[in-house]
Amino acid sequence: MRVVDTIAAIATAPGSGGIGVVRVSGPASSSIAEAVLGHCPSPRYAAYLTFRDEKNSLIDRGIAIYYPGPHSYTGEDVLELQAHGGPALMQILLKRCLALGARQAEPGEFTRRAYLNDKLDLAQAEAVADVINAATEAAARSAVKSLSGEFSTRIHELLQQLIDLRLYVEACLDFPEEDIDFISQGRVAEKLAHVAAGLDAVFREAKQGNLLREGLQVVLVGQPNVGKSSLMNQLAGEEVAIVTSIAGTTRDTIKNSIQINGVPLHIIDTAGLRETTDEVELHGITRTWRALENAGVALLLIDAAHGIGEMEKSILERLPQDLPKIWVHNKIDLESTSPNIIQQDGNTHIYLSAKTGDGVGLLRQCLLEIAGWQPSGEGVFMARDRHLLALNTVHEHLDVAEGLLIQPELFAEELRLAQDALNSITGEFTPDDLLGEIFSRFCIGK
Ligand code: GDP
Ligand code: ZN
Repeated sequence: MRVVDTIAAIATAPGSGGIGVVRVSGPASSSIAEAVLGHCPSPRYAAYLTFRDEKNSLIDRGIAIYYPGPHSYTGEDVLELQAHGGPALMQILLKRCLALGARQAEPGEFTRRAYLNDKLDLAQAEAVADVINAATEAAARSAVKSLSGEFSTRIHELLQQLIDLRLYVEACLDFPEEDIDFISQGRVAEKLAHVAAGLDAVFREAKQGNLLREGLQVVLVGQPNVGKSSLMNQLAGEEVAIVTSIAGTTRDTIKNSIQINGVPLHIIDTAGLRETTDEVELHGITRTWRALENAGVALLLIDAAHGIGEMEKSILERLPQDLPKIWVHNKIDLESTSPNIIQQDGNTHIYLSAKTGDGVGLLRQCLLEIAGWQPSGEGVFMARDRHLLALNTVHEHLDVAEGLLIQPELFAEELRLAQDALNSITGEFTPDDLLGEIFSRFCIGK
């Protein structure tokens, strides 16, 4: 076992709540329990007890649960103190634990310890943060799937196939007279193709999960009063829109998020892209243009009765050429036009009414297609960009291997590299700086 200190943090969200939890992990957990509670509660029983300070005065009454390691979240001795969820009271309780020898935990440190103690692998640890930060219900469900190990299991299955193939090839290398078999039987090629097919299937699912996490960036272009707000409300429909303000933006939030079938759409409103000399507004404009660089689709909203104007034209000129664009002709209810979707000059035109909702389904469908969303009966597991990159690297090595069937040594080496890339997903051998980066994005207390 590594030598570890004891950490403590408020595990519940900042602010007032019905209940607040201070969590402690490490060797001093039981002595802290004795000092605060008078005795250490029975393992894994919820005990209603009095929490006391160093002068033996009452801090609060609440529930204490003691989990001796290794049967705890972190794998270490863990103490959870559940008190009334007032921020001031939580501070008193936390300070009491710190005075008793604990140190304030860093972001994600509990989960990092859980990972280091093999309670979960790296993909699962990342899923913990993804569950907490999920912007939609679908994203939350898929993150929970990854946390429960579904993604990791798929990775392990692929790993096992790769290892089997490697052993087979390496056995051939030990008996050079069988090189002939190695090439002629075609069994290696067949097995390789099998691994590659499995990899593709995992990649497709991971990509869907990644979409739930990252969403689609939508540029919204349109004159005042053309119906932008109405359309966004219609698109979001019944589903709750969790509005996320992007870090760093203060006065002018450029992004709002809605969701369609659980896929987050981050709307970049270009309404603010006008001539100005105002300092703050200029900052916002620069940021909006930068956001446009990562956009996945542009929605060009026009009044069906008027068509395209100067403002649309000037923005259109500055949008990337290859950015998919959808022309939305709004207010067809005033024109007695039917909802419709047509392709013209390589662009998609949709006729709809943001007021009545007619034709909005066409747009929804179109956006999901552009996002690459494939509805499946069951949910998908969540994956991060890091995982997709690793899966791509595996793919590349398998491709190279395929061309090396007559050079078993080189072939085996490519398999080894592919295996390393797969291993990086679940974090078998993970460099400290990557761990630092992953866990620093957690909240404190998790
Ligand atoms: P924004 O300024 O582009 O966000 O436009 P709004 O969504 O605020 O809409 C401006 C006005 O147009 C409001 O009075 C809406 O009710 C109206 N409007 C929006 N969409 C439609 C539509 O499809 N048909 C009709 N008849 N009115 C609409
Ligand atoms: Zn509006």
